[in-house]
Amino acid sequence: MSQKQLSAAELMEKGFRKYSGEEIDVYFNLDTCMHSGHCVLGNRAIFNTDRRPWIAPDNADVEEVIRVVENCPSGALRYIRK
Ligand code: SF4
Repeated sequence: MSQKQLSAAELMEKGFRKYSGEEIDVYFNLDTCMHSGHCVLGNRAIFNTDRRPWIAPDNADVEEVIRVVENCPSGALRYIRK
């Protein structure tokens, strides 16, 4: 899903939580998540709800992180490339 790019401050203000990576940060908003499972099914190395933290941006290439984040149907996932 194509989303307006928000700043880190705007995302935090909207209730997103930050998951930091070396080259990219992933942001997640539980209130927006519709639990479709696209993220976990998309790449379990990055998104794994059995693990804490459940999002590990460094477990795949940046392009792969972006691909899966952009596949989130609700807008609960965002990213900011460093
Ligand atoms: S893809 Fe998005 S809406 Fe679906 S479970 Fe993951 S974060 Fe939630």
